[in-house]
Amino acid sequence: MNSRKPKVIIVGAGFGGLFAARTFINKPVDVLIIDKNNFHTFTPLLYQVATSALDPSEIAYPVRSIFQRSKNIKTLMGTVTDINVEEKTIHVKTDLQEKTETYDYLLLATGSTPTYYGNDHFKQHALELRTLEDALAIRNHILSRFEQATWEKDEAQRKALTTIVVVGGGPTGIETAGAVYELYNHVLKHEFHHHALTAKVILLELGNKLLTPYPDKLRNSALKQLESLGVEVKFGNSISEVRHDFVTLKDGTMIPSYTLIWATGVKGSPLAELLDVPLERNGRLPIHPSTEVINRPDVFAVGDMTYLEDSTGNPYPMVIPVAQQQGVLAANNILARINGKAPEPFDYHDRGMMATIGRRRAVAWIYNKIQLTGFLAWLAWLGLHLLTLLGFRNRTQVFINWVWNYFTYDRSVRLIIDMEEQAEEKSISYKKEAST
Ligand SMILES: Cc1cc2nc3c(=O)[nH]c(=O)nc-3n(C[C@H](O)[C@H](O)[C@H](O)COP(=O)(O)OP(=O)(O)OC[C@H]3O[C@@H](n4cnc5c(N)ncnc54)[C@H](O)[C@@H]3O)c2cc1C
Repeated sequence: MNSRKPKVIIVGAGFGGLFAARTFINKPVDVLIIDKNNFHTFTPLLYQVATSALDPSEIAYPVRSIFQRSKNIKTLMGTVTDINVEEKTIHVKTDLQEKTETYDYLLLATGSTPTYYGNDHFKQHALELRTLEDALAIRNHILSRFEQATWEKDEAQRKALTTIVVVGGGPTGIETAGAVYELYNHVLKHEFHHHALTAKVILLELGNKLLTPYPDKLRNSALKQLESLGVEVKFGNSISEVRHDFVTLKDGTMIPSYTLIWATGVKGSPLAELLDVPLERNGRLPIHPSTEVINRPDVFAVGDMTYLEDSTGNPYPMVIPVAQQQGVLAANNILARINGKAPEPFDYHDRGMMATIGRRRAVAWIYNKIQLTGFLAWLAWLGLHLLTLLGFRNRTQVFINWVWNYFTYDRSVRLIIDMEEQAEEKSISYKKEAST
């Protein structure tokens, strides 16, 4: 008798993949979870790493730790580069080798990636905020521009070095713009006081309002709170050119700036293209309500990379609760399939949305019913993010850091670390060791 358990490969240890893997713990399946990183990233707090409020390790959690007691869950750090649905294999590239893994069921949860809406050349001069590396790159960049501005004699150059442009009036854009301004206003302004540096934070939104899916009251409040903080918001003007030292808008306005943070627009993970099925809007992979990929039996997909419409014909949003709930459903439907049972359809429980705009400022739409603004919304935001952050140690450290920042106005992690130089040195020393 063949006692081999069905093998499930999960690609991506983000919110969807992690919740799927947790559902498989101690179930009669062998699970291999593959991610290019060895950690899970809590994306809602990335902007706090980018603005020196938190350390990267406080918002990331090692995947192996999560499953260390789960006998049926293994992890592999590597990048999936190919999928063969006929042979049911995937190709994985790790630091040391390339390997092929066989599956019975495949669950894809590789998230999304920024899009420039056909202006891919903007990318060359834009800073993105998608990964921990991105957040560190933004931190290094902003702090370095301030250091340069200090010794810059030319007034126009000094201004360009301390002007930060954030693109996108969604939650990530407004949170980042607010936090960057506070970094300047509460910390950098005082530390660089010998040089009288002034900073400008400009938020560009193509439409005519912030936070598009929110009710009017919250949108207006978000704008008021941002402006009262000191952020300049510009609506209804697309970007026509981006260079390393300026941004030009469609109406001809030229903004001299060495810092452009791209916080708008995402498309489905490029991994979706490997399945060779027609993709939906924004490169998202079409799935059935069961989360199985259309025309690709035994392949399931969840989260940001997927396209599934709700009962009103709108696609489910690319947010954490959708990814988590789809992850759990996909795992349960794979188990149902193994047991010869019918799959369940996706039934989204929407708990609402919230966005913070700096210290004591936020908007929250709880269960899409209760509307909160200002301090109360900010408290709700703090509580929810502490609760959902993975790991007791991370929660405690973040809490301590927030309390410290709140009372001292300090930002504890203002280090400029040259990641490229470090990576280069590491790779050289590894190569040296390997050749001896
Ligand atoms: C800055 C920022 C702030 C956000 N704030 C919020 C918020 O406050 N609330 C909210 O609901 N949503 C928020 N989001 C959106 C939220 O992060 C996503 O909706 C959610 O992460 C989607 O989960 P996922 O599992 O689909 O993908 P992800 O969580 O992105 O996970 C994808 C995983 O796949 C891995 N991966 C990708 N490609 C490969 C490959 N080829 N091989 C191996 N591994 C691969 C990645 O390393 C990653 O770990 C935010 C996003 C960003 C970028």
